[in-house]
Amino acid sequence: MSPANSAPNPDPANSASPDSVRLWIRNPLAAFTANGLDAGGGLVIENGVIAEVLAAGQAPAEPCAETFDASAHVLLPGLINTHHHFYQTLTRAWAPVVNTPLFPWLKNLYPVWARLTPADLELATTVALSELLLSGCTTAADHHYLFPDGLEQGIDVQVEVVRKLGMRAMLTRGSMTLGEDDGGLPPQQTVQSAAVILADSERLIRNYHERGDGAVIQIGLAPCSPFSVTQGIMRDSAAMAQEHDVRLHTHLAETMDEEAFCLDMFGLRTVDYLESVGWLGDRTWLAHGVHFNDAEIARLGAAGTAVAHCPTSNMRLASGIGRMAELEDAGSPVGLGVDGSASNDASNLILEARQALYLQRLRYGAEAITPERALGWATKGSARALGRTDIGELAPGRQADLALFRLDDLRFSGSHDPLSALLLCGADRADRVMVAGNWRVIDGTLPDCDLPELISRHTAAARKMMAG
Ligand SMILES: [Zn+2]
Repeated sequence: MSPANSAPNPDPANSASPDSVRLWIRNPLAAFTANGLDAGGGLVIENGVIAEVLAAGQAPAEPCAETFDASAHVLLPGLINTHHHFYQTLTRAWAPVVNTPLFPWLKNLYPVWARLTPADLELATTVALSELLLSGCTTAADHHYLFPDGLEQGIDVQVEVVRKLGMRAMLTRGSMTLGEDDGGLPPQQTVQSAAVILADSERLIRNYHERGDGAVIQIGLAPCSPFSVTQGIMRDSAAMAQEHDVRLHTHLAETMDEEAFCLDMFGLRTVDYLESVGWLGDRTWLAHGVHFNDAEIARLGAAGTAVAHCPTSNMRLASGIGRMAELEDAGSPVGLGVDGSASNDASNLILEARQALYLQRLRYGAEAITPERALGWATKGSARALGRTDIGELAPGRQADLALFRLDDLRFSGSHDPLSALLLCGADRADRVMVAGNWRVIDGTLPDCDLPELISRHTAAARKMMAG
């Protein structure tokens, strides 16, 4: 504890601050402000919001009841994950699919996933969100499209876990309607009728979707992928999203197999297909977006359609290298996603930013893709992909969602530029994470979580799932 944190200020180190107390996060070692704002003096947090951004040497306008000495920390806006399948933490590193590309990977996993129970999903969601939180993530999107008998209330289960952990989430009501019998990829028992999907979607929006600054839970509509849904559910979902003003999410242009499927099934390339079902607009964010040609990039950019870049998954399944810089330059918001844990298999967002930096450098060269650009995708870009303007930046009026990393691990020893060191040296765990003004990670741990107990229960559930 440094002198700056000692009396007379109350020690905020071991408790969540009541959000009405003014807290000065003082003199960070470095701070990431996408807009070039000098934040050398730190931030003042009040009522769960960033009240002031202080330049180096500047003190708060009014006294603060609490001070947190951040002189050993790199300060980032809370990272935002735009694509995941939390349930897949139960099927990580499963031998039969370790060395397969997307389609056989899915065909092997669908029958296993069809056994998912509410208790499994609760554990899997807890594990995925805990992992994300420890990596500096404060807002996470999930794409859940499995609703076997007994799991009709899957999203409700996830809402409870998000609230318990004190994060923010964009929970998407996924769907599959095109089974094997009709030329789709998933087994028939995993698909649902459009009527059931739409009724549940409407119920979830009504019950849980929050609007405006500071929203904790948001609901999106997310038919799974061109090879697992009908065009009808795509159109109906788009209409419902417009009616209720919620966002649309789906997988698109992930692999060449998918492109071949679209040409074969619909006679359309992926972006033509997207447009044909009313999805080419700024309400939509796409997972992956790996295989677009020049004209498609221009159309997506002009429409403001966002893309969730999932570099590790794209490498793991050898799907390809997306053209993220060109998409962004064309006008598409670009965010980052760790993707589901059966194709990553880690839910670590700061490491994903490192992967994005390096994978995109392979395409565009070292000068074009900077650590700042990759961090921008993980923060402001991801916020835009989720349709949010209240998070993802260190700026006055934004939500107090923060990730603070220390650089005193062996891996950072001898490093110079703190912000670059985060990605280049491979930071993998935040020391402090704040959501809406409350500390959710303290000293690299989750204060209210018995991790060994969680791991033990989750591992048992994963073993049981494979046993059938
Ligand atoms: Zn996915």
